[in-house]
Amino acid sequence: MKCKYCGIDIENPEIFKIHEDNCLEHQKLNGIKKETKLEDMNVQELRNLAKEKSIEGYSNLKRDELINAIKAVE
Ligand SMILES: [Zn+2]
Repeated sequence: MKCKYCGIDIENPEIFKIHEDNCLEHQKLNGIKKETKLEDMNVQELRNLAKEKSIEGYSNLKRDELINAIKAVE
């Protein structure tokens, strides 16, 4: 089985699964996605994210303020 992120070939399916979860290329990809996604999120999604990150007073923040607050804790 070939990792679709970094292209390494691993025969053992179990090891392959572990690799896929920890693959650096995979994580890099997710990181980039997460960052570009923030701007595309609606207010409700941003509030959920702010809640997850324990940002205080997130329910009173505007969309731009939410984005900045989330970026500040990342
Ligand atoms: Zn990989």
